[in-house]
Amino acid sequence: MDSKKRQKENLAAVSLPRQLSRPSWDEYFFQIAQQVATRSTCMRRQVGAVLVKDKRILSTGYNGAPRGIVHCIDAGCLREQMRVPSGERHELCRALHAEQNAIVQAALHGVKIEGSTLYCTHQPCSLCAKMIINAGIVEVYFNEGYPDELAAGFFAEAGIRLHRMGGT
Ligand SMILES: [Zn+2]
Ligand SMILES: [Zn+2]
Repeated sequence: MDSKKRQKENLAAVSLPRQLSRPSWDEYFFQIAQQVATRSTCMRRQVGAVLVKDKRILSTGYNGAPRGIVHCIDAGCLREQMRVPSGERHELCRALHAEQNAIVQAALHGVKIEGSTLYCTHQPCSLCAKMIINAGIVEVYFNEGYPDELAAGFFAEAGIRLHRMGGT
């Protein structure tokens, strides 16, 4: 393509009608978390997590089996087979939670996540809450609730701000 033609196409692109509903930063990062969730290999729910600081994405994660370990969707999930209720007996599943994977990915690449904000499609469980607290994450945005009362108590005690997207 010659440069004149390219210039013309670029101009055409910028003169498109501007989207009226430009997302806020929180909506923007939350929508990215929703996109990340689509990579999940969990048979029960698809969760996505994004760690952000100063409007920059530091790390992402979705729920799925550790590297080199067969995924629940291929090997079958014990929790599913045993009909374990949601929020209970996580240790039976081979998968890591999205929040855990986001924290682990940061550690793997040596990215400091202290003072960061977590955008997660679902409310973190108590196990993730403990990791979030010690990872130095200070704020959590989520949408879907999760049946784990312990977690909310942990966050309150540790002074981590919890926000429900589209709500309080
Ligand atoms: Zn599983
Ligand atoms: Zn969790």
